[in-house]
Amino acid sequence: MKKKIVILGAAESGVGAAVLALKKGFDVFVSDGGNIKPRYKEMLDKYGIAWEEGKHTEALLLNADEVIKSPGIPNDAPIVRAIREKNIPVISEIEFAGRYTHAKMICITGSNGKTTTTSLIYHILKKAGYNVGLAGNIGQSLALQVAEKNYDYYVIELSSFQLDNMYQFRANIAVLLNITPDHLDRYENNMQKYTDAKMRILQNQTGEDAFVYWADDPVIREELHKYGIKARQCPFSILKKEGMIGYISDGHYVIESPTPFNMEQEELSLSGKHNLYNSLAAGITADLTGITNETIRESLSDFEGVEHRLEKVARVHGVQYINDSKATNVDACWYALESMTTPTILILGGKDKGNDYSAIAELVKKKCTGLVYLGADNGKLHRFFDGFGIPVADTHSMEECVKACYEMARPGDTVLLSPCCASFDLFKNMEDRGEQFKTLVRAL
Ligand code: ADP
Repeated sequence: MKKKIVILGAAESGVGAAVLALKKGFDVFVSDGGNIKPRYKEMLDKYGIAWEEGKHTEALLLNADEVIKSPGIPNDAPIVRAIREKNIPVISEIEFAGRYTHAKMICITGSNGKTTTTSLIYHILKKAGYNVGLAGNIGQSLALQVAEKNYDYYVIELSSFQLDNMYQFRANIAVLLNITPDHLDRYENNMQKYTDAKMRILQNQTGEDAFVYWADDPVIREELHKYGIKARQCPFSILKKEGMIGYISDGHYVIESPTPFNMEQEELSLSGKHNLYNSLAAGITADLTGITNETIRESLSDFEGVEHRLEKVARVHGVQYINDSKATNVDACWYALESMTTPTILILGGKDKGNDYSAIAELVKKKCTGLVYLGADNGKLHRFFDGFGIPVADTHSMEECVKACYEMARPGDTVLLSPCCASFDLFKNMEDRGEQFKTLVRAL
């Protein structure tokens, strides 16, 4: 009899997994507790895959041999609990897809900088002419690409939620950018549990693999000794220090090995301290895959960046507007503020994931000449920041917010949307928040 695979969640990863499972001869059923987007329904129907939406019918799910769970569904959701009680293995789409390809896997994780670094590595590999796919949290699902394409390399952005359900998967190159508090609501408010999930990127690595990581991160440093790391270690730092493979020294971006590489820091296309880390991680990874210095240099200087990440929108009456809607936690905002070189009006607020704003308090005092709160409930922001003596505005829609910024800003200032919070209280998602901001700014 055919083995049965049940897929929970019918969006990009779930539908891709369903198609791959069908191709590999499984009996497949897809179940989504919410509404399935029309394009995904069409795709399931095209392949004749059975599905349900708006419910999880236990009788159709609890006889599975294996369950592939979308990263968006928490482990403590009732249906996931019921599945586990039956001892049915629950895996992620990446774990499943990894079984059916021999491609080299380049995997990027961290609390911040994943999408930027993943996109930059992909950009370099493409430019080098490699046969490479982009997957994970961005672009098409890995499973769909494994089903339909035949790439030699995949560059994969991995969230902690995907890593949670990965067991046998092996990263040939694992990149760990940083670990700072995020998504703690999904980890019982336990930082160690979140950290453990991130560190899973190392599991199954062998002596033939490489581990690229930011050596100055206190959390990563603390973790390293807990693991018998077999992979080649490639630590990087912003400073030249003993043992570093990559660093910045005297205005130069340097990679020591495997192939020595050097370029002027000024030629890097991405700005801000955080992007030095991202550029180092990407350059080391490219070097490890054997790409020439010439291509690495060219790619690091012509990469255009990723939307909603410190994206320059427009200059209006001498005021620069920047969209960093993707800054959904305090650490991301810290780096954005740190890179500001002019007086800044900071827009912050939204759905708070248990934020501690003290990490940005000093930078706010030093750099901000105005604060615009943008959220359904701005109470916590008022309590924390109002005493700083910086002018504040209280807004509950993007229209009100952009208007308040326009009134507050003086020529030479920067208006920075880097909200420290998720967007779901007022917007569909962070892209919607960023788009609305850009549209209104361009209409000023
Ligand atoms: P992720 O995919 O991990 O969410 P992004 O590349 O989308 O990361 O960037 C998310 C936010 O974090 C942006 O606001 C960006 O300015 C900031 N950021 C990017 N790289 C880093 C880094 N290495 N360290 C800290 N913050 C970063």
